[in-house]
Amino acid sequence: MTQATATTQSQTSNSAIEKLKCKECGEEYPLADKHICEDVCFGPLEVKYDYEKLRQTVTRATIEAGPNSIWRYRPFLPVATDNVIDVGTGMTPLVKSHRLARRLGLKNLYIKNDAVNMPTLSFKDRVVSVALSRARELGFTTVSCASTGNLANSTAAIAAKAGLDCCVFIPADLEAGKVLGTLIYNPTVMAVKGNYDQVNRLCCEVANTHGWGFVNINLRPYYSEGSKTLGFEVAEQLGWKLPDHIVAPIASGSLFTKIHKGFKEFVDVGLVDEKPVRFSGAQAEGCSPVAQAFKEGRDFVTPVKPNTIAKSIAIGNPADGIYALEIARKTNGNIESVNDEEIIEGIKLLAETEGIFTETAGGTTVAVLKKLVEAGKIDPEETTVVYITGNGLKTQEAVQGYIGEPLTIEPKLDAFERALERAQTLERLDWQEVLV
Ligand SMILES: *Cc1c(COP(=O)(O)O)cnc(C)c1O
Ligand SMILES: [Zn+2]
Repeated sequence: MTQATATTQSQTSNSAIEKLKCKECGEEYPLADKHICEDVCFGPLEVKYDYEKLRQTVTRATIEAGPNSIWRYRPFLPVATDNVIDVGTGMTPLVKSHRLARRLGLKNLYIKNDAVNMPTLSFKDRVVSVALSRARELGFTTVSCASTGNLANSTAAIAAKAGLDCCVFIPADLEAGKVLGTLIYNPTVMAVKGNYDQVNRLCCEVANTHGWGFVNINLRPYYSEGSKTLGFEVAEQLGWKLPDHIVAPIASGSLFTKIHKGFKEFVDVGLVDEKPVRFSGAQAEGCSPVAQAFKEGRDFVTPVKPNTIAKSIAIGNPADGIYALEIARKTNGNIESVNDEEIIEGIKLLAETEGIFTETAGGTTVAVLKKLVEAGKIDPEETTVVYITGNGLKTQEAVQGYIGEPLTIEPKLDAFERALERAQTLERLDWQEVLV
């Protein structure tokens, strides 16, 4: 495990990355393993591109001719070479919703289904594919992360594929599926007795002392760019058009803000027509610092201590919370929260109407979608895209006890007939309950 030396890379001809740039004061830095404007204002750093070059070299046709993964957008991603890690991440289905749409009273609803993303069934595969590709360019041999679960799955899996050493940090109380789904790739796993925000603080110290590439700390400017592909893909899959309204979950707020950046870049380089897109965010009530700030009209986010079943989005002190807030406000969107019961109902609603089993984060997003529609905050005519970011098989304990049970029978036809009759009677009784 060696200390990486961060150097500016010699770039291949079609890389457009130029600098890291402070989001607050504009100070520029070389493209190294750095995420904070340490010379001036301690603001977050973001990757800056040569957009003129992108305008001249990228067309819809060059993108369509690319791989069937996030790497079709490589010129917009923060890597210097062609030597990227392509594990088939991205280009997940954008599904036109019929049954959920009808249930909610929406006419043009689409589901971006990252519950089937590769290789680990969450949107985090996007950010990690990008971060580890860049980590390798920067010379890191050990990669790491502070995770709420899905990030550890992705980092461990993609590090395994890339042959990088891996040590991940998770809160000790995560769902079994998330822990097992990390351990199987045989990284070192540190289960920290504390919540995510405490894990993150610890990792900041380790990043400073061990010379490891933490995908969401010292590599954060590169990592977060991976989420732009959630914007790019939706625009391309809608036939090179932007939607009217998107609904997405907010944990650190990175994904939410980067979908916005992705749409903006496509407009800026002329790939899609400009159009106002409303951005609405979803949080779990038990960890809703951004939704609270939105409701109270504050322009700062007060940290909270998380207490919700939606562990994958339970970040009490969100790094990009204020930027998410700003985007929801300036696009005429909303940020709402829902309680654990509504989250479970959201998971079941999506499963029963669309055949998609999402985890608690997706349940949160669907429940917020429903709440916004009921409050008249989404127009039925709007082309609305709801982002489903994770897979339900990883958080099975969340719905345990809230779903039906199998009918256990003897292997005999009459046993089956009797059980079927009972089931149909129960269904009728259920309906009568609904009707009275
Ligand atoms: C991490 C995560 C999010 C939110 O990510 P941020 O970029 O931190 O806001 C949403 N959904 C799932 C399933 C996640 O794992
Ligand atoms: Zn600065």
